[in-house]
Amino acid sequence: MIATSNIEVSKTTQSRLNEVNWSDLGFGKIFSDHMAVVEYRDGKWHTPSIRPYGPMMFSPAISALHYGQAIFEGLKAYKNENGEVLIFRPEKNAERLNKSAQRMCMPDLPVETFMEMLTQLVNLDNEWIPKGEGESLYIRPHMFAIDEYVGVRPSETYMFCIFTCPVGKYYTTELNVKIEKSFTRAVKGGTGHAKAAGNYGASLFPTQIAKDAGYDQLLWTDGQTHEYFEESGTMNVVFLSGNNVMSPALSDSILDGVTRNSVLQVARDWGYNVEERKVSVKEIIDLLKAGKLDGAFGVGTAATIAPIKTINHEGTDYELPRDNSADFAGKVSTYMDRLKRGLENDKHNWNYKVS
Ligand SMILES: *Cc1c(COP(=O)(O)O)cnc(C)c1O
Repeated sequence: MIATSNIEVSKTTQSRLNEVNWSDLGFGKIFSDHMAVVEYRDGKWHTPSIRPYGPMMFSPAISALHYGQAIFEGLKAYKNENGEVLIFRPEKNAERLNKSAQRMCMPDLPVETFMEMLTQLVNLDNEWIPKGEGESLYIRPHMFAIDEYVGVRPSETYMFCIFTCPVGKYYTTELNVKIEKSFTRAVKGGTGHAKAAGNYGASLFPTQIAKDAGYDQLLWTDGQTHEYFEESGTMNVVFLSGNNVMSPALSDSILDGVTRNSVLQVARDWGYNVEERKVSVKEIIDLLKAGKLDGAFGVGTAATIAPIKTINHEGTDYELPRDNSADFAGKVSTYMDRLKRGLENDKHNWNYKVS
């Protein structure tokens, strides 16, 4: 448990809770009453504060805007049946933030500081956690460079901030995805393993082209040969064939997703044969042609499990089996949802209970 610390709290006098349309939460458009912030200056993090959510004032010259030193995280909080608040594996996000920070020449944020800010913020705004099916409180920690300086160098000052959004389901239908063979999300030696804002910026254009052609997302392939799968849109990807659960092995061009890690662990617990290795486009297309690909899905915090309905490869659409509620994807989706709400035995101690 985390001791109450020296976080300065100034509460809003005007809660917006009663303005929320709880029947239309969408994803990421409604913001809870408060945010937690802390500044890095003179080589150290200063005293964090919690204050009403709202605009911040910055110079147009801050380096995040020009040279892209900006990283983020995404995780979710749920309420169990006793009204207690559970956050899914938050230390993983704190650790990953620091991996991203290292790659982007940004300062390490002590895991305890991350956890204290998170705990107090979510506690304070716990009435913003929706309880309906598929609903949760999405938490967005992020760090960005705030030097007012146009020269190119690592910034000397940073802001770390956490805000939260009550959210509904991310995807409501199964996905049509296209295997991308010319654009690249991330390359060997690049920043793909970091949750860096610029990775997203660079992915928008190819994704828009796919959307205009009727697809929901891209299946990214490696930047050198385009022969091996990497990720699905902004999620990791998992393929299912018989008893085999396959996911591209982690590398410096693949983001180490908490959902991927958890889903693969659950698969192992359930006796599936889990393979983390290079997964080739050819092998998956061959399985599709033989009717032996039993499922494919994106895995990430926002959607948890996003089943794929069709995969397009060089102009041909391949259909996946339709009703997968009985297979691994369906089972793990229900299981993960129940686990995060405290309805399953949490044998790996993944739920962090906010007191
Ligand atoms: C955040 C993210 C994921 C999913 O990570 P989770 O920790 O499961 O939410 C996968 N791929 C990319 C590129 C991401 O940015």
